[in-house]
Amino acid sequence: MRIDGILSQKRTLSFEVFPPKKGAEEQDKLLAVIDGLKEFSPDFISVTYGAGGSNSKNTVEIADYIQNTARITALAHITGGPSTPADVDGVARALRERGVENVLCLRGDRPVGYEAEYCRYFPHASDLAEYLVPYSFTLGAACYPEGHTECESLYADLVNMKKKEEAGAKFFITQIFYDNSYYYRLVNEARRIGITSPILPGIMPLVNPKNIRRIKEMCGSTIPLEFRNMIEIYSSRPAVMEEIGYNYAVYQIIDLIAKGAPGVHLYVMNNLRTAQAICSRIGRVLHELF
Ligand code: FAD
Repeated sequence: MRIDGILSQKRTLSFEVFPPKKGAEEQDKLLAVIDGLKEFSPDFISVTYGAGGSNSKNTVEIADYIQNTARITALAHITGGPSTPADVDGVARALRERGVENVLCLRGDRPVGYEAEYCRYFPHASDLAEYLVPYSFTLGAACYPEGHTECESLYADLVNMKKKEEAGAKFFITQIFYDNSYYYRLVNEARRIGITSPILPGIMPLVNPKNIRRIKEMCGSTIPLEFRNMIEIYSSRPAVMEEIGYNYAVYQIIDLIAKGAPGVHLYVMNNLRTAQAICSRIGRVLHELF
């Protein structure tokens, strides 16, 4: 199914997985995770694409599995930064042949020192979206509640978000955030400048204190002081930390739904337990409000 069509009918629950870097055993484990995710009746599952473009074959294979074996709507990511038009054509054709109808258009993180070379053909996600229009996918794109790390201002980032919509994006998925007020600000400002597409909040439970610094460095996401304090106090107790992380994510989700978010995209990082931990805590919410 097409994700814009689903979003026009209902609130969506979706998960994100990534192709494993290692061999067949890891790939089989991921396929088992995808089978396990079916229990939660997701509206779609997205599969990432390597920033270097090297594992594009895996992205296609996993999207194929999601779409045709698990029989869940697949959303395949494509990063334009490392790709040539021939690469994109190859992946787009392979996805279409397998019946995948949805693509998330991304640029990818530019490797330091190789910026110009990296983005030679598709400098931005909007260029990739424009290029993919003839393939008739439903296109989506990324957006950033706290602004993209490279952008000089939130306003400039919003203008660029609008370019993605004008290039063909029909929905957006956000970068992870731990303070919902950034999501509400993004949605308000996006609507103010005329962006009309649904904006799906991306949620990733923070259950490992070691990830605090990584999240800040990679995504620029702020961890609110209250949450940070809880993490720091209990950082040496992994079981308690897990409870805190899952319950905080549940709090975020319920608040988002209560304030009208069009769905929730869970970054499960190939971990079935993450989906189980969240979905089991909000079973009635999913049943009655999605
Ligand atoms: P762009 O939209 O090109 O934006 C990058 C920067 O350029 C921003 O500062 C933006 O404001 C600016 N910009 C955008 N358009 C224009 C324009 N037309 N003119 C001038 N400036 C512009 N990475 C992967 O490698 N693989 C993945 O599968 C993947 N999936 C992701 C999924 C989600 C939901 C999110 C939020 C991120 C994902 N990423 C992934 C990370 C993403 O590739 C990085 O955040 C990357 O740095 C930016 O990608 P983008 O598509 O937002 O780029």
